Amino acid sequence: MKTIAILGSTGSIGTQTLEVVRENKDIEVAALAAGSNITLLEQQIREFRPKLAAVWDGQKAKELEQRISDTGTEIAAGMDGLLAVACIPEAEILVTAIVGMIGIRPTIEAIKAGKNIALANKETLVTAGHIIMPLAKECGVSILPVDSEHSAIFQSLNGERHNRIAKILLTASGGPFRGRKREELKDIQVEDALKHPNWAMGQKITIDSSTLVNKGLEVMEAKWLFDVNPDRIQVVVQPQSIIHSMVEYEDGAVIAQLGTPDMKLPIQYALYYPNRRFLPGDRLDFWKLSQITFEKPDTDTFRGLALAYRAMQEGGSMPTVYNAANEKAVSLFLNRKIGYLEITEMIERCMDGHNVISSPSVDDILAVEREVYQRIESR
Ligand code: NDP
Repeated sequence: MKTIAILGSTGSIGTQTLEVVRENKDIEVAALAAGSNITLLEQQIREFRPKLAAVWDGQKAKELEQRISDTGTEIAAGMDGLLAVACIPEAEILVTAIVGMIGIRPTIEAIKAGKNIALANKETLVTAGHIIMPLAKECGVSILPVDSEHSAIFQSLNGERHNRIAKILLTASGGPFRGRKREELKDIQVEDALKHPNWAMGQKITIDSSTLVNKGLEVMEAKWLFDVNPDRIQVVVQPQSIIHSMVEYEDGAVIAQLGTPDMKLPIQYALYYPNRRFLPGDRLDFWKLSQITFEKPDTDTFRGLALAYRAMQEGGSMPTVYNAANEKAVSLFLNRKIGYLEITEMIERCMDGHNVISSPSVDDILAVEREVYQRIESR
């Protein structure tokens, strides 16, 4: 029997993780955390009977506590609640399916408490990878990628010697606006940007996919997860999302992982690594699959990817600025306060105005996040 805890159980990755739990009879859920969706969290508590559930919003936490008083599940709130879920003694794996930099502290505390991390929350690694990866090594815990591209790379590295990697080939669908030029993007509305061609995901990552900021975040995530210099990570647009990513070795061999776009595969792989299990769902039919095509990303139009490479090159606190500015800008765009192209313009302006802190502590990272937010709010 495996026991897990989930941060962000009501979101896209969280609910799919619970689908994997439902399909496999040998996983238990010790704790769940969500932001404010207590209707779904209540259903999850009744089905999975966790010992603890946390809600970020204090008022909603009180309301939920009353609603589920017959279940025996304890309720916690705020950051204390997230930390309690992350460190619950019963769980051996923490699934970080929360969105944004709010995941940093709970992830660090879970590592210190000896939990393996099934990591979906890429913003944490992007901003605090230099703290998290050495800490995981020191504490002897594994960081198991849930992001489909990183899971594909992880699977393509199985049984290989890491020092023989020539290149990581990180695939990208190109998003809904692939092929368009910058002037064709200025009137893009929220509804247009929320239509991803291949994946159904949470709102923030769907917008990030359309701007290629998501790919930028993934390049940074890959750098930390696989300890590879950014100049060895090449983004390849592969619009059908069949090849989830590849590794090129020094002898020229390229090993890839392919499959239908289904996040349950990387989630289940992370939970059961190194074992594979049956997973219901569609299979690739190579007789029907007419083509797999490749393109170079257009980084003049989709500046988000070029800015990510710049942020990595400048290092230190710059990836935090990139990420925090994006988080804020995407939230303003979703609330129809700014135009689509302003997302990457805001990231660039915040990066231009920042003096890099070379090896930021968690407090520095959170202070930089606040500064970036204030800068954007007072614009
Ligand atoms: P969603 O927006 O669908 O879900 C986010 C989850 O986080 C929800 O459960 C939400 O709760 C919870 N949450 C948000 N803020 C807080 C908070 N302050 N305290 C506690 N819980 C909070 O996001 P996704 O599932 O799409 O993405 C989650 C992470 O996984 C992101 O980092 C994303 O980049 C990454 N990822 C996602 C993929 C996908 O296919 N969706 C693929 C690869 C990576 P509530 O519902 O109550 O608001």
